[in-house]
Amino acid sequence: MADALIIGNGLTLRGHHLLCLPGYEGFGYTDEHVARMWLVREHLWAHNETVVAVQDSPDVVCQICPHLSNGGCAIEPGDEVWVSRRDRRALSLLGLKAGQQLTWGEVLDRIRGRVDEQKLARACGQCRWFPKGHCLRGLQEVKSQNV
Ligand code: SF4
Repeated sequence: MADALIIGNGLTLRGHHLLCLPGYEGFGYTDEHVARMWLVREHLWAHNETVVAVQDSPDVVCQICPHLSNGGCAIEPGDEVWVSRRDRRALSLLGLKAGQQLTWGEVLDRIRGRVDEQKLARACGQCRWFPKGHCLRGLQEVKSQNV
């Protein structure tokens, strides 16, 4: 099943999802969408050598999302522009650009070394899920190397 997530040499993830995954607690838009997030998370945590192709466009999680429309996020009209900007902000925080490839272990190293609570709040504070707190909890877990 996890093999279906791998496209070419790696697994595509949009920038902001790199910061969502560490603290993921099961929030999502449909059962399928939540299941996809869990599948990606379980795969990455079991195989941190997985190559991740980072991007600022729909990824392996968006593929199954009911809000993907005409090739972009349409949770609200015009949202792909806003979401891709958020992706680039997250990538910049990690010292990355869309189109780069690195292993999931290297992503975690960058989160550990470059992100703190204030920076995460600046990058992701406008997200609808941020107030729930799981993103900050995930950051703390990564920084304490419990993942
Ligand atoms: S399509 Fe939009 S709402 Fe759905 S997972 Fe992708 S970014 Fe999130």
